[in-house]
Amino acid sequence: LVSRKWRVKPTVLDLGDGVTIGEGTLALCAGPCSIESEAQMEKVMNHLVENGVRLMRGGVFKPRSSPYAFRGLGMDGLRDFHRMARERGIKIVTEVMQVSQVEEMHDFVDVFQVGARNTQNFNLLDALGGVDKPVMIKRGISGTIEELLSSAEYVFSGGNEKLILCERGIRTFETASRNTLDLNAVPILKAKSHLPVIVDPSHGIGIREYVPAMALAGVLAGADGIVYETHETPETAASDGAQTLDFDESARLIRNLRRVYQLR
Ligand code: PEP
Ligand code: MN
Repeated sequence: LVSRKWRVKPTVLDLGDGVTIGEGTLALCAGPCSIESEAQMEKVMNHLVENGVRLMRGGVFKPRSSPYAFRGLGMDGLRDFHRMARERGIKIVTEVMQVSQVEEMHDFVDVFQVGARNTQNFNLLDALGGVDKPVMIKRGISGTIEELLSSAEYVFSGGNEKLILCERGIRTFETASRNTLDLNAVPILKAKSHLPVIVDPSHGIGIREYVPAMALAGVLAGADGIVYETHETPETAASDGAQTLDFDESARLIRNLRRVYQLR
């Protein structure tokens, strides 16, 4: 069902209020790795509004490698995120980690993110097949393109056709970067599937200085959008500061992404 053989026309998701994801527009989604406080969100949201970015990412349930690391503000943080985003016309993209969270998060989310560690959590995918909100599925840490498409098929076949595929880098033998952003996946996914494809250069390379280059490369490879991490002071971010752009870097990237998209 997610294949081009089944549907030739590219899928474009309409999130309302003039926000779409899919062919014809460049979807830009930026925000901190983790939602930390109302003050932090206000600064990020002001930055997004100033730059015409309508989608904000930010985790309230964080999958951390260490159990002692910051694991997110949970539902309290999401309620604040939702209220502040609504006041500013911003749409929310945030990670859901388990089945029980789908229902409680539902009314506060515009796009459910399935993280790389949950790409093959088939119970979660089944649950998301039953909701009427878009789902962005990230490629598994060691997942193949075919496995990502199969995960999307779970949600689609469950009844939810509002899907976005996200290339966020895979684990390879290379240790010079956090992950290996597989830009090959972009044209391959676009050819195999009618679903929108988004690139996450932040997790893809994991090194702040190189994030803009990989974001621009993602657009030239044919991505329908980019999702990346930004924070007022990346050095103090609760998670993923080393791959997070400050607002100056973010503003420059937004300008360049729009210019590069025009060249396609
Ligand atoms: C994130 O988006 O902050 C995140 C945890 O991503 P991933 O699941 O790709 O590691
Ligand atoms: Mn992150």
